[in-house]
Amino acid sequence: MIPFSPPRIDDKIINEVVDTLKSGWITTGPKTKLFEKKLAEYTGAKSCLCLNSATAGLELMLRWFGVEKGDEVIVPAYTYCATANVVIHCGATPVMVDVEKDSFNIDVEKLKQAITPRTKAIIPVDMAGWLCDYNKINNIVNSPVITKLFTPKNEIQKQLGRILVMADAAHSLGAICDGKKSGVLADVSVFSFHAVKNLTTSEGGAIALNLPAQFDNEELYKFLCVLGLHGQNKDALAKTKGNWKYDVITAGFKVNMTDIQAAMGLVELERYDDDTLKKRRYIFDYYAKEFSGNDKFVLPIYDQTNKTSSYHVFLLRVKDISEDQRDEIIRRIVEKGVSVNVHFQPLPMLSFYKSLGYDIKDYPQAYDNFKAEISLPVFYDLTNEQLQTIVNAIKTSVDEVL
Ligand SMILES: *Cc1c(COP(=O)(O)O)cnc(C)c1O
Repeated sequence: MIPFSPPRIDDKIINEVVDTLKSGWITTGPKTKLFEKKLAEYTGAKSCLCLNSATAGLELMLRWFGVEKGDEVIVPAYTYCATANVVIHCGATPVMVDVEKDSFNIDVEKLKQAITPRTKAIIPVDMAGWLCDYNKINNIVNSPVITKLFTPKNEIQKQLGRILVMADAAHSLGAICDGKKSGVLADVSVFSFHAVKNLTTSEGGAIALNLPAQFDNEELYKFLCVLGLHGQNKDALAKTKGNWKYDVITAGFKVNMTDIQAAMGLVELERYDDDTLKKRRYIFDYYAKEFSGNDKFVLPIYDQTNKTSSYHVFLLRVKDISEDQRDEIIRRIVEKGVSVNVHFQPLPMLSFYKSLGYDIKDYPQAYDNFKAEISLPVFYDLTNEQLQTIVNAIKTSVDEVL
C-alpha cells in the first residue's frame, strides 16, 4: 500500500531527538526558543511562539483579542473543523462563507458581505498551501465603511480599531506572495506541525505575530508565553535559574511545545526550502503533467508569477461527477494499493454544525469542490515508480467508473 503522507523520519531527526532526551531538558527550553527564533527569521514575522498545536494557537489569539459570546468570527465553510471549533470554544459564532471555485479559498466578495457590527475576526484558511488574497482581505478590514462598523469591546480591540485578520496557515508554511512569506501577510498567522503537515514535530504549532505598529509584538510574545502556561509568570526553565518564586496572573492554558518536538522542528526547518519544498514541488509538477492532457481532470492552482504554494495537498478534481461516483473511484484506487483522501468535508455537512443550523445548501461551491475532489499522496520519500503507480491507479479507476 502506498501511504498518503507518512512523516520523514531519518537519522538526522532521530539523532536530534535522542540528543534532547539525553540533555536532561525535555519540556519547553533552549530548543523551543531556538526553533521560535529560526521560524521568525524564516517567515520574517516580528515574533513567533511555538505551541503544542495550531488549534491552541488559534484559540489563544482569539482569547487574547477578547472574542466571546455575542461576537462573530468569519471562517470558510471549506476547512478542517479546528478553524470553527476554536470560535465555538470562545463562546462566539462562526459565520461560514462559501469558497472560490478555482482556489478552494474563502470567497472574498462573500466574506465582505458577511461582515456585521458583531464581526471581531476573520480566519482565512490557506487551503492546501495556496495563500488567500490577503491584499484584498486587508483592504476590506481597513476600509472606512468596514472600520466604522467595528464595535470594540475592550482595550486591545480599541487599539487595533478594526477586525483582526488571523490566517489559518496550517498548510502554508513557506508559501510566498509578492516576495512575502506566509507569516507576514495577516496580523497573525498560525502554522501546524501535526504529523501530516509539511513540517512536522509530531504534534505542534506556532503563532507568527505581525501586528501593526501600535502593538509591541515582543511584549505580546511574552504575554502569550504566560497565557499558554497557566498564566504562570515564570516557566520551568526560568525557575531553575535561581528564583523559585512565581505568580499566576490569569487562568491560562497549558499548550506549550516541548524541546523534543522542537528538536524535530529544527532539523525540518533547516532543510525545508532546499529539500522538502523542492521535492513536494517535483511531485506536484509530476501529477500536473500526467493529468493535464486529460480533460476529465481539473488541476489545482499552485504556482503563479507572484504567488507560489507550499505544495501541501494536491487537490485533484474529476470533472462532472457526483459524490457517489467520487467515493466509488476512491474505493477502486484504494483497492489498487494507493491511499488517497478528501480534503475536506465542508463543515456544514458534519453532524455538529448541522445541529447548529448550518446547511450545505447555503455553500454550493464548497459542495461542488468537495464532491469532485481526491487528494493524492505527497511525501518526501515518494519514488518515481510509486508516482507512476498512483497515476495509473487513478486514471484506471476513473475510466472504470465513468
Ligand atoms: C491541521 C489543521 C489545523 C489544526 O492543526 P493542529 O496542529 O492539529 O491543531 C487547523 N486548520 C487546518 C486547515 C488544518 O489542516
